[in-house]
Amino acid sequence: MASYEEVGIGDAVLLDEISTRAFVENLRVRFNGGKIYTYIGEVCVSVNPYRPINLYGKEYVSQYKGREIFERPPHIFAIADAAYKAMKRRGKDTCIVISGESGSGKTEASKIIMRYIAAVTNVAGQQEIERVKNVLLQSNAILEAFGNAKTNRNDNSSRFGKYMDINFDFKGDPVGGFVKNYLLEKSRVVMQQPGERNFHSFYQVLFGATDAELSRLKLKRDVNAYHYVRQGGTPRVDSIADKADYKSCQGAFKTLGFSNEKIDAIWRVVSAILHLGNVQFTGGGDETLISNPEVVRNIAELIKVPVDAVMKALCHRVIAARGEVMEKMHTESEASYGRDAFAKAIYERLFSFVVDGVNTAIEVRVEEQDRRYKYNTVIGVLDIYGFEIFDKNNFEQFCINYCNEKLQQLFIELVLKQEQEEYKREGITWTNIDYFNNQIICDLVEQPHKGIIAIMDEACLNVGKVTDELMLEAMENKLKGHNHFTTRKLSPMDKELKHVEEFRVRHYAGDVVYNVKGFIEKNKDTLFQDFKRLMYSSSDPVISSMWPEGAKDITATTKRPQTAGTMFKNSMVALVKILMSKEPYYVRCIKPNDQKSPVIFDDQRVTHQVNYLGLIENLRVRRAGFAYRQSYDRFLRRYKMISQYTWPNFHGGSDRDGTKILVEEQGFTNDVTYGNTKIFVRSPQTLFALEQGRAMLI
Ligand code: ADP
Ligand code: MG
Repeated sequence: MASYEEVGIGDAVLLDEISTRAFVENLRVRFNGGKIYTYIGEVCVSVNPYRPINLYGKEYVSQYKGREIFERPPHIFAIADAAYKAMKRRGKDTCIVISGESGSGKTEASKIIMRYIAAVTNVAGQQEIERVKNVLLQSNAILEAFGNAKTNRNDNSSRFGKYMDINFDFKGDPVGGFVKNYLLEKSRVVMQQPGERNFHSFYQVLFGATDAELSRLKLKRDVNAYHYVRQGGTPRVDSIADKADYKSCQGAFKTLGFSNEKIDAIWRVVSAILHLGNVQFTGGGDETLISNPEVVRNIAELIKVPVDAVMKALCHRVIAARGEVMEKMHTESEASYGRDAFAKAIYERLFSFVVDGVNTAIEVRVEEQDRRYKYNTVIGVLDIYGFEIFDKNNFEQFCINYCNEKLQQLFIELVLKQEQEEYKREGITWTNIDYFNNQIICDLVEQPHKGIIAIMDEACLNVGKVTDELMLEAMENKLKGHNHFTTRKLSPMDKELKHVEEFRVRHYAGDVVYNVKGFIEKNKDTLFQDFKRLMYSSSDPVISSMWPEGAKDITATTKRPQTAGTMFKNSMVALVKILMSKEPYYVRCIKPNDQKSPVIFDDQRVTHQVNYLGLIENLRVRRAGFAYRQSYDRFLRRYKMISQYTWPNFHGGSDRDGTKILVEEQGFTNDVTYGNTKIFVRSPQTLFALEQGRAMLI
């Protein structure tokens, strides 16, 4: 038997030694042997192979369909199947949480899971279900076109978090779904680092639209003509086929039922942003003028508003004070700030609009009276940004890392909770084991009044000129002595903190130094009202509908909008609530190297990820209880040949009795506990011995 298991150890719980070194070594051996999946109990660790591997075909689908996790070699299909079975057989809402750093394979994993679910459902071949599956699968092309970009870590990096629910009817067939997006990295619209690109959509239209389309969009087929897409200096990427992707995206729009008017408006907005990036201002005295008005004419035509209205919105703002309405000319730098804020805001709004369109297409379509019977359970799939530590960390990294704290907390809590519940169900005594609770870090960020977000918000609410540095001082005053927060002032000897505008958070996953420059501005996320009114005034109903708040009267007192930080916090709290209500399954993705190479396994990089994903802790939790548990019948099916009592003929009693006799004969009694329906084996050595005993006999 050329066993898959011969390459390292499939379930890390069975490792002889529990250490980071042994764990990483096992991943390396398996990676080199082409085995990219490894379990920690029911958690699937996936190492990005960086090459196409033949693991996902029909023959694999049939190997995993309806089987138990332990029956087959580790595979992400087994996780998808476990979630699917729990949903179908036990009527449980489940979710699959995929985590890992950028480029580790999260999005690929989420697509593999969706394709697996599509492959195992709808055996009856119903048309409506085929439609739903097709729409679910094709929605990726659209979301990736508008939400993904080339970064230095990943050519197709998702720059937003995504949670997708798939709804199933009582037969277990998908009948619809829902996508929720989180924090799009909109700063990318106006600025890209060297080697990076803007969102794919911009390049898709420039390379993929026909000449006639381009001329309607007032565009030249020349990436270098547009400031917003040329800054990274890498308009072309080998692994990305922009022209073909544009076609797929257009095809997906059609499949999802976007009207021609909508599709047209979407690309006009994308093009308007390209033009907007080229608008330049000249300032002299107290006048700010646009030096290339012909560009503004293009924008006006594309978004269907009068050209002088665009000029005005770019150079002035209208302010209402005590019922009086006044116009104020921007300074040159205000105008540039306004332009970029405008570009970011329309793209963000466009992205939400596109997501809404996807949701309309995948909405559960059942008659109200059928709903009770058909619209049943869900599987949620979460593909969200992983922990980020860059050389320079900003507001975005702060939000992303906070998100990971929340998810890590959920992970520990749920994984522990699940274990404990099973022991309770099986009538086994169990003492709680210790683990690091990162609640203290979540509190540091999210607590009312004295959490970092609250302090940021306070700085933003202040009418006076509060600088980022003053905000940092407020943090120092309020967070002095906190074990997970420090600044140069608080600990002058700290060499890691090079600048006075830095603070450091000791995250669960490691220390991160954040530079506060731009925090207030990004948290405030100001967009001058004038732009909202401008967009609302568009004679294009699609564009106008994206900006309903533009209808508001200028003198109407507007409630202060929530800050970006608070909105993100609220969305995280809501997300955790959603996930908490479901039975979770985990896929932990690991990036083997930074070169995108299929042959390099960088021990140091992997060790780092293993540490911050808390995998060893996970392993310990799993082992502190029982390394292995199995229902009596399945246990016997696997090991019956070891005992003459159970093989070749079973000598009577229940499966539990048979199991007991077999275990006693082998001398493992002290290492096992008998639950109500399952046997629990404490040490992996015992299981190992059983496995060896079995291997000698077959
Ligand atoms: P993430 O979403 O974690 O940032 P992706 O899922 O986009 O990462 O993966 C980055 C790249 O790695 C993909 O574009 C693909 O080339 C490669 N990759 C990831 N997972 C797999 C896989 N299972 N098989 C083959 N290649 C993969
Ligand atoms: Mg991704």
